Amino acid sequence: MIPIEVEEPRDVQIFDRPQEDVEPADDASDAAGAEEAESSEEAPAPEPAAPDADQLRAQLSLSEDFRSDFVHGEKGPEHQKYIVLHDTEGDSNASSVIDWWDSNGNYVAAHFVVNKDGTIVQCAPLDTIVHHAGYGDTGHNELYGVEDESRDDMRGTQPIGDWAADYGMNSYSIGIEMVHVGGSGDYPQAQLEALDGLIAYIDAYYGFESEIIDHKAWRTGNSDTSPEFTDYLASYQQSRVHG
Ligand SMILES: [Zn+2]
Repeated sequence: MIPIEVEEPRDVQIFDRPQEDVEPADDASDAAGAEEAESSEEAPAPEPAAPDADQLRAQLSLSEDFRSDFVHGEKGPEHQKYIVLHDTEGDSNASSVIDWWDSNGNYVAAHFVVNKDGTIVQCAPLDTIVHHAGYGDTGHNELYGVEDESRDDMRGTQPIGDWAADYGMNSYSIGIEMVHVGGSGDYPQAQLEALDGLIAYIDAYYGFESEIIDHKAWRTGNSDTSPEFTDYLASYQQSRVHG
């Protein structure tokens, strides 16, 4: 399938907000009269409209490469709770990663793969269940407020042991893979900025902020995300951006 490139708009600066008046309201009284007179002639500044999901998506350098074998059920907004971040643990670009997922017979994938250069490939629609998180630590369904769901067809899934018997995360999350090998150095700015934009898009799409976790939070002992991502993850959990 040929990816459809979405061209990035160049002159749209919808994040810009009008300069706010930083002068304290109770500033020197001798200036107050003049300021009041001035401000009374001005129309109130309109509230800047928050960019909607379509606008945020159009700002991404994103292409679609949907593969039917990646979809394991429906996940409407009422079931969306988490964004789970992963590393691919390989240097291959998104297209190669997606080809590999589609050929290895495990039916595993993530909704998005973010390349080091900031380009993104989406390989399953947002409102679908994709097998990216797999089994988590026993007890994590309760800890994370998710449950094993008949909505997931479980195709290709194999249990991995009593220590990790809980399977609910896929039915309640979006998976994002970053092209990165743990221990290989920092994540490029372009990749981190693309992830910022992608998370903003997902938030706008659902109309609420999903909780951001990494894969190893769900399953202890997983490598991803790598130690190089620790500070970025903390920042995402605080402020929705990498830093
Ligand atoms: Zn992972």
